[in-house]
Amino acid sequence: MSSPNKPTDKPEAIPAANFIRNIVEADLAAGKHAQRHWAGQPGTAADHAAGPLDPAKIRTRFPPEPNGYLHFGHAKSILLNFGLATQFGGRCHLRFDDTNPEKEDQEYVDSIIDAVHWLGCTWENAGETNLYQASNYFDWMAAFAEYLISAGHAYVDSQNADEMRANRGTLTQPGKDSPFRNRSVAENMDLFKRMQAGEFADGAHILRAKIDMSAPNINLRDPAIYRIRHATHHNTGDKWCVYPMYTFAHPIEDALECITHSICTLEFEDQRPFYDWLLERLAEGGLLQRPLPQQIEFSRLNLTYVVLSKRKLIQLVEEKHVEGWDDPRMPTLVGARRRGYSAEGFRLFAERIGVSKHDSLIDYVLFEDAMREVMNESDQRRIAVLDPLKLIIDNYPEDQVEECFAPNHPLHPELGQRAMPFSRELWIEGEDFMEVPSKGYRRLFPGNMARLRYGYVVKCTGCDKDENGKVVAVHAEYLPETRSGTPGADSVKVKGNLHWVSAAHACPAEIRLYDRLFKVPAPGARREGDAPDLERNFLDDLNPESKRTIFAQLEPCLRDAKPEDRFQFERHGYFVADRVDSQPGKPVFNRAVTLKDSWGKGA
Ligand code: ATP
Ligand code: MG
Repeated sequence: MSSPNKPTDKPEAIPAANFIRNIVEADLAAGKHAQRHWAGQPGTAADHAAGPLDPAKIRTRFPPEPNGYLHFGHAKSILLNFGLATQFGGRCHLRFDDTNPEKEDQEYVDSIIDAVHWLGCTWENAGETNLYQASNYFDWMAAFAEYLISAGHAYVDSQNADEMRANRGTLTQPGKDSPFRNRSVAENMDLFKRMQAGEFADGAHILRAKIDMSAPNINLRDPAIYRIRHATHHNTGDKWCVYPMYTFAHPIEDALECITHSICTLEFEDQRPFYDWLLERLAEGGLLQRPLPQQIEFSRLNLTYVVLSKRKLIQLVEEKHVEGWDDPRMPTLVGARRRGYSAEGFRLFAERIGVSKHDSLIDYVLFEDAMREVMNESDQRRIAVLDPLKLIIDNYPEDQVEECFAPNHPLHPELGQRAMPFSRELWIEGEDFMEVPSKGYRRLFPGNMARLRYGYVVKCTGCDKDENGKVVAVHAEYLPETRSGTPGADSVKVKGNLHWVSAAHACPAEIRLYDRLFKVPAPGARREGDAPDLERNFLDDLNPESKRTIFAQLEPCLRDAKPEDRFQFERHGYFVADRVDSQPGKPVFNRAVTLKDSWGKGA
């Protein structure tokens, strides 16, 4: 994290027990993967066989499609996969799953790399650089498809999309064999070669696995594996006009990369039989090394008060409900970083929520609490007056300036203290003065005494008002013998404690107070009492007060804050110098999170 704060540690492994960790431990104990070889790069069975035993005990991977920005849910997957590798002496690969030619973009690739690094994870380990692009495997994938044809495990279907859909059957009814299902190997091979040569239009033919049209699992009813798509690919250009289906490509990518545990979200559970079927066929043919990767599913992260669907996130950006992908209110990792959330906070959060197969909705409070806990430990304290009101100490010499000392971190005295200039005119918080005090009010009101934190006890003598009766300045007298840190500090007992900055020295700054983007726990979901036909739109649940910009007075040393420096502003919360708009000399701060939860349980 930023310079004034304590350096963060390397990503911790995930120490809490979870079912995936148990699987890995059992596999290691059984020596399941001990005999794998590793060619030093992805490859077929023959390639790996020529290499040494794999020095990595396990291999996991994080395989994003570079078609959007990563969000909080991806962080869970990243920390799980990289964490397991760290914990068990393995490696985790970052693989761009870029087999779909139409959606990818370099902008997304770059932002994913940044986000994974920001979370403290690395694919560079013990001399290996495990950063891969699935599109580099297209030659292998096409060759494997041809192998399946030659072994009688795949055929070219020439039904159109509607016919295919009609013949697929339903959950309760078996499908029907395609009239093209019994084409000869030679005919299938010829057609597939001509598909690759560009002889046919998109959709004219499709290559399907030949499994069982009456399988109870619809995913095994001859799934499509290669389709014609005349499209330019960002990596392979116009070399291909056929592209593999995701469900065909993904298991092969895992096996080529020697992945031992292929961890994905629950929606892929029904695909696992095909994953296993496909890899078995290819291993039988001697193309892939055994033991084959094992797919393991876990439940995705769902959080209250946010949306984590790519489609909805795109809508927020495109319709300008937010100021971009990195808007500090967005649940993207670029947004989180700009908001001032800490990577270490993500790790603590991930550890706490654990990993399971049960769908659950996690309370946003848990996320914020993890952030608070980490920042409380790591962030230095500073003083900022967010709603400045002038305090004039009438008995303090007009030209005098002295230094008061404030500890940088109450939990870490070794971080020292800093000097804050004290002078006759200060800024205090507007809420720290009441002309007519409410019951129990302990701060400034005429006749009352309170302590200026790290400075003196002052006694309020009155206030000035403008023509509308608004208080524009408060007057007080200080008690010289009560300076903090001197023997007289305790000579006068007071209950109120005020934050202040010297008016002549303070740094005025723009502050962005961010709050939750949505005002209800489940944006867009139906609520109790809704009419049966009512459909809600998540956009109607946007919180109109999710961003408020104010101008504050900061203690002078904050003038030098560098982008991404983060502090606890005493009594207000954790604030970060905005990484886009803040400049030394002219800081702009974002509020990451308040000191305490003000939303209450599920409010
Ligand atoms: P889509 O498939 O709609 O493009 P996606 O969120 O699945 O979106 P991917 O790039 O495929 O995007 O995701 C990469 C990895 O992150 C996958 O392994 C996926 O399982 C995991 N992942 C995505 N969303 C979540 C989530 N909410 N919780 C945990 N893991 C997630
Ligand atoms: Mg996906």
